[in-house]
Amino acid sequence: MGLVVQKFGGSSVADAERVRRVAGIIADTYCEGNNVVVVLSAQGDTTDDLIEKAKELNPAPSKREMDMLLSTGEQISIALCAMSLEKMGLPVVSLTGWQAGITTSSDFGSARIRRIKTSRIQNELDKKNIVIVAGFQGITRTGEITTLGRGGSDTSAVALAAALNADVCQIYTDVEGVFTCDPRKVPGARKLEEITYDEMLELASMGAKVLHNRSVEMAKKYGVNLEVLSSFVRKPGTIVKEVTKVEGTKISGIAVDDDVARITVVGVKDEPGVAFKIFRVMAKEKINVDLIIQSLGKNNEQDISFTISKDDLDKAVNALGEYEKSLHFDHISTDTDVAKVSIVGAGIMSASGIAATMFEALYNAKINILMISTSEIKVSVLIPAKDADLAVKAIHDKFFE
Ligand code: ASP
Ligand code: MG
Repeated sequence: MGLVVQKFGGSSVADAERVRRVAGIIADTYCEGNNVVVVLSAQGDTTDDLIEKAKELNPAPSKREMDMLLSTGEQISIALCAMSLEKMGLPVVSLTGWQAGITTSSDFGSARIRRIKTSRIQNELDKKNIVIVAGFQGITRTGEITTLGRGGSDTSAVALAAALNADVCQIYTDVEGVFTCDPRKVPGARKLEEITYDEMLELASMGAKVLHNRSVEMAKKYGVNLEVLSSFVRKPGTIVKEVTKVEGTKISGIAVDDDVARITVVGVKDEPGVAFKIFRVMAKEKINVDLIIQSLGKNNEQDISFTISKDDLDKAVNALGEYEKSLHFDHISTDTDVAKVSIVGAGIMSASGIAATMFEALYNAKINILMISTSEIKVSVLIPAKDADLAVKAIHDKFFE
């Protein structure tokens, strides 16, 4: 007998029929003799709908009241799911984040889990109850309700799995696992049997929206075995773990990120300290910088280009403008019609020719590369946004066909 943590996302519990299906999966796991702790998201678009409701009354509500509101979405799911299991004659109890002992920091809207006091859950498991916990929420030391940030239920599930020392943490979603790329865009996309935490982190942070990043970081830190699988078809999913078997292909996936904007600071001095000054401004504004390129100096001048999230563009341009005098640049140009395409694989840097193969695929598809960056486990290129779908398909065909 083991302890299984199962998390079901919003689309898996969107209506009564789906809740019933989820209850069926939980019931089967329980009846196989396991202890089961379930974490649920809010039904379907509930969280978005609640945000809309808030805006109708106050376009800038306090974060505290926002968390008070948003935490109700998950509370609906857990009660409904528990009722469905009751109807099947199974012993079950639903718990809010605070009832489940999940203490967080006091950053409303993006709280961090600090501690999980597992005694209540343990108690319920000892009584042979199925325990259903509201994801995405917790409570501060002073008794305020918090939420963990959008998509945070994954993190609730992994944190509970770590705290309870579960045998596995299953993340049920509406896709069958982690794919080599987006199956809706590339018909030949394949489901991966296994993937490492680091590869998953790269894919997640680059727009392959299967798992919340923080949940993967936490799973890696505590060595939680994750499985990503579908609540709609009963098939094995993708296992996320530390080391996976080495396969023929050295890359495990291709990701696209279209939340990218490029800024070029044109005509800065070609002298020590310029990059430092520019990126110190970004750091001060808490803006994450991704790809960076510095042009060759000419006539004692050069350009520095870098990419950031689209949301940060105005803030970045304004901040640089404030330092126009001390930075001595000519002007700033920006471009939002760009996308970042990356290949990810644990062995990329130790395998020669992988980057060349990627560039060849792009060349064959007549796609111009604007920027390049490489790391231990990935190669990223910035390309025109209109070419993104074509690029992914071309790269996928090259590596996987
Ligand atoms: N319901 C929350 C959201 O939609 C949390 C989650 O689904 O994980 O972001
Ligand atoms: Mg959700």
